[in-house]
Amino acid sequence: MAYTKEQLKHLEARLVRERERAVRSITRFDLDFGAAAQEALVTFSLHMADEGTDNNQREKAFLLAGEDGRRLLAIDNALRRLYKSRASFGECGGCGNAVGFDRLDAIPWAETCIQCQNQRENGA
Ligand SMILES: [Zn+2]
Repeated sequence: MAYTKEQLKHLEARLVRERERAVRSITRFDLDFGAAAQEALVTFSLHMADEGTDNNQREKAFLLAGEDGRRLLAIDNALRRLYKSRASFGECGGCGNAVGFDRLDAIPWAETCIQCQNQRENGA
């Protein structure tokens, strides 16, 4: 286990808070879209996230297309990884090493360690 219970709890709380912030900023700009859309995102079930069983799927796809939407999806993915296995949460998707608590504290939805991130950005 790469992180202590307390660290995981902290990261979970960070993710939940960032998720709320992303939802608010996605829905803030479109008051007409309104409460229904916000509701759809707030109640957005993690388990249903990749299933097309929802009536609001198209609205959601529209809402999730922007930068905040992409972050929201990344946050949901991170929460899903956390709930699936707390023991392996925070392992780098590239090299398998621990991503590092400082990096996760800054970007709790990060999927890769800083080395792999740099490599990716340099196209290596
Ligand atoms: Zn890595």
